[in-house]
Amino acid sequence: MDTQGWYDVIEFAPDTWQLGEAGRWNMFLLVGGEKALSLDGGIGVGSVRRLCESITDLPVEHVLTHTHWDHVGAVHEWESVGVHPNGEDKLANDYTAGCRDFVQTWDGKPFPEGFDPDTFTIPPGKFGWAVQEGDVIDLGGRRIHVYDTPGHSPCSISLYDERERVLITGDLVKPGQPLFIQVPTAVLSQYGPSMRRLQRIAEDNDARFVCSGHTDPCEDISIIGRMAQFVEDVAAGAHEPPEKIEAGKWGVVDEYVSGDMKIWTNDNARK
Ligand SMILES: [Zn+2]
Repeated sequence: MDTQGWYDVIEFAPDTWQLGEAGRWNMFLLVGGEKALSLDGGIGVGSVRRLCESITDLPVEHVLTHTHWDHVGAVHEWESVGVHPNGEDKLANDYTAGCRDFVQTWDGKPFPEGFDPDTFTIPPGKFGWAVQEGDVIDLGGRRIHVYDTPGHSPCSISLYDERERVLITGDLVKPGQPLFIQVPTAVLSQYGPSMRRLQRIAEDNDARFVCSGHTDPCEDISIIGRMAQFVEDVAAGAHEPPEKIEAGKWGVVDEYVSGDMKIWTNDNARK
């Protein structure tokens, strides 16, 4: 397997891989009978495509759960990629600035051979096809259902893998980490409805794992309903006043805490 000494790979269900970058960003590879689906690309310090193609010989399609900078690092490695229509015009943006801090201050494991933090850029990708509500991606004996789940960003989708009963939520459901509702694209009022949908999908199908771009696969699917309730309560003003905390590059954010759940948000997201 070609991890380039950089990616951390776990197969948490048959033919179902989480590809981790720097302990911060997760991508996924789902392999079916005829093709494979690569979901998200981290920030692109290594080659996600090479890694995927070292795990499977089947053709690999690349799709994004959303177009934030820390998910688009591999879009340039494919001729074109699948993304929600609301993210179609975001693939050519220059996201390098978002990663500069990280690559210049990283003191963990060595970067892959040939990587130069001083000249690092995230090259743009090309929109290939729309991936949205109602789509079923058939990998050959393995069907992946697509749902529009806005809230974290207008182009956010979630995917449910019927065969292995895995729900991948992009950055929407992050067990054990703060929900990022302070990012410029976030809309607090959309979180509740999107999460309730995912709760129903997970419960109706008896999902085994809920996954995200930043947390490890979680087998306690009840977390989705509990988080839905928490975001609904916060949106309804039931947890005022929030703690005002200094959140690095995000500036001062409103922090709400309930048990093991945490939300970061701000006035921009309350629209
Ligand atoms: Zn995001």
